[in-house]
Amino acid sequence: MKNPAIKPLAKGGRASQISYPGSCLGTKATRLCLGFPGSKGGRASQISYPGKSLGTKATRLCLGWRLVQNLSIKTFIFALCIAGESVVAQTLSLPQNLIPFNSPEGENLLIESQSRQDYWPLSMQFITQRNQAFCGVASMVMVLNALSVPAPESPEFAPYRVFTQENFFNNERARQVITPETVSRQGITLEQLGQLLASYGPKVKVYHASDTSLAEFRRLAVENLKQPGNFVLINYLRRTIGQERGGHISPIAAYNEESDRFLILDVSRYKYPPVWVKTEELWQAMATQDSVSGKTRGFVLISKE
Ligand code: CA
Repeated sequence: MKNPAIKPLAKGGRASQISYPGSCLGTKATRLCLGFPGSKGGRASQISYPGKSLGTKATRLCLGWRLVQNLSIKTFIFALCIAGESVVAQTLSLPQNLIPFNSPEGENLLIESQSRQDYWPLSMQFITQRNQAFCGVASMVMVLNALSVPAPESPEFAPYRVFTQENFFNNERARQVITPETVSRQGITLEQLGQLLASYGPKVKVYHASDTSLAEFRRLAVENLKQPGNFVLINYLRRTIGQERGGHISPIAAYNEESDRFLILDVSRYKYPPVWVKTEELWQAMATQDSVSGKTRGFVLISKE
């Protein structure tokens, strides 16, 4: 951290992600993320008071969530965007080819989607990666919690258990794949992503783009997005879709048939909002080579059974 300007970015994990001025640790946007709900040291970790639920901020949030469950989908999306307003306020601007989720067009794409089963459980677990190399860890925490996979102990929430970016590596099998210290320096590869997920027991299938096709990716991802109990993580190169800049990992939450776009729930919430991306462009971004593994990026399917 002595010189954030030369730290690796979260590139889908990759070490080839040398940071660029304006996108490295130490930017205003990054510092603000430390106070975001769900991030380490953020407000979310300060509102849990066992035995004092009634009347606490946490309870009010819980009651608010129950209310939201009763609202229409459009109202819910609107509420989510309002709630996330402070999150997206400092994010980078998007290229024209991407449709921000927090826009009328972005909202309508979800409303009209026929493949959005995964949106609901993922939105309930949506978190911000705790550092610029932890995109993969944050993404895994989201899907493991969404799948209700038995989690490691989490002292701050005891006796409750939940996956967090802090306790994810409290599992010897996970640490045998890669240590959190190494992840913080260089991120993870697609294969390591699959191995880390499998270390907690779920069924995992890793697809390198070079071993499949755009049509097969679309078919498998859309099929998954229509089903409960399984999820899709993608590993792609940001600059291919016009973003800053390196490799990245995040979940996809929905597919809009008419526009042929997928919704990426980008875990770099300090940097970009969720976006709708054309399948062709996403495919090209996954079909890039990871310089560490020497293989193409791709996607991973995860299910509990
Ligand atoms: Ca699914």
